Amino acid sequence: MREVNVDQVDAVVIGAGVVGLAVGRALALSGREVVVLESEKAIGTGTSSRNSEVIHAGIYYPAGSLKARLCVLGKQMLYAYCAERGVGHQRLGKLIVATSPEQVLALDGIMAKAAANGVHDLQKLTAAQAQALEPALQCEAALLSPSTGVVDSHGFMLALQGDMENAGGLLALVSPVQHIGLQHGTATHPIRVTTQDGTELACKVLVNAAGLSAVALARSMDGLDPSLLAQSFPRAYFAKGNYFALAGKAPFSRLIYPVPEKAGLGVHLTLDLGGQAKFGPDVQWVDDPADLQVDPRRGDAFYAEVRKYWPGLTDGALQPGYAGMRPKINAPHEVAADFLIQGPAEHGVPGLVNLLGIESPGLTSSLAIAAQVSSLLSMKKAM
Ligand SMILES: Cc1cc2nc3c(=O)[nH]c(=O)nc-3n(C[C@H](O)[C@H](O)[C@H](O)COP(=O)(O)OP(=O)(O)OC[C@H]3O[C@@H](n4cnc5c(N)ncnc54)[C@H](O)[C@@H]3O)c2cc1C
Repeated sequence: MREVNVDQVDAVVIGAGVVGLAVGRALALSGREVVVLESEKAIGTGTSSRNSEVIHAGIYYPAGSLKARLCVLGKQMLYAYCAERGVGHQRLGKLIVATSPEQVLALDGIMAKAAANGVHDLQKLTAAQAQALEPALQCEAALLSPSTGVVDSHGFMLALQGDMENAGGLLALVSPVQHIGLQHGTATHPIRVTTQDGTELACKVLVNAAGLSAVALARSMDGLDPSLLAQSFPRAYFAKGNYFALAGKAPFSRLIYPVPEKAGLGVHLTLDLGGQAKFGPDVQWVDDPADLQVDPRRGDAFYAEVRKYWPGLTDGALQPGYAGMRPKINAPHEVAADFLIQGPAEHGVPGLVNLLGIESPGLTSSLAIAAQVSSLLSMKKAM
């Protein structure tokens, strides 16, 4: 360890998306001195502003997975937080619609999966009951999820930033982290973080919440055990999700999801807080995480899928919207990976937490992820 003349801070968080801000807030509230470093000019310009803004109920994830546990807990925390802090949200509810006899049978499996995750409020509806709620809907049967909702994600992130700053935390924008030396800090603050402009910070705790760059950053850390790097660090993959906006008034007042298919949740309809409807996201594996253009031709495949549950969709009503990028840690042919919260037990570096593969339901889970990171770090008395 070199003794160097460098600024010291208790904790550094890389990335001011919803997860980095939630972690920064939790660490600041637990009494730590925190700096959040963000490469862009504003908070939340990455995946955190390119998603569906849905507060997920926690229905589909494998029982016992981090996604299941942190989504269900995060949902409760998020509703409570939004109510307390005046963040815009609506508990709109969602219908999972079966449009064939085989899909009707699949609804029972979905209910059982939800119950295993602690989601006990799903209601099975006949076609007539579903249509009484949503007259434009065509289906054979449906499940109603009353606890699904939508949130103003930017308002949420601003509230998190405010809480963090009120607790003494700092946000540094336009501060891309370029180098991390795990044993290059000081005797008391062993990790050294260097930003593009040459600023150096020595810290005891480092949380990598860099979203699409998190895997690359984790793998680039100077001082990692090479055998651990080979065994325990995943590779990054990217799956774009394209949205198509619906021109005109939304035909539904709840979110509408088909019964999930192998590749994803199917072409579903979500609403924003202004009641505007959009369809998507689909799943398009890409090599470049910056590839966020929506190819209008992908909309062609949406029409037939949507008309299975909404026959009223007219030709030409869908317009290319926007796209978001999923930070995947599994290859296209592999089973979908769980969130990876990689702490000292996994990589052997005291004070370091990598947050990898934080795709959906990362927005819903953000407060629960932050609580988990905070408690993981508080268990380490030496830090
Ligand atoms: C299409 C799509 C739809 C989704 N829909 C939902 C949904 O409805 N509900 C839900 O719960 N979840 C949803 N999600 C998931 C959710 O959006 C993400 O899990 C969440 O936004 C991840 O937040 P984050 O802070 O980890 O990442 P990000 O928002 O990507 O933030 C990472 C930040 O790190 C910064 N950064 C990167 N590298 C560096 C560096 N070297 N130095 C400094 N800063 C750096 C970036 O600029 C960025 O601001 C969706 C995701 C996608 C892709």
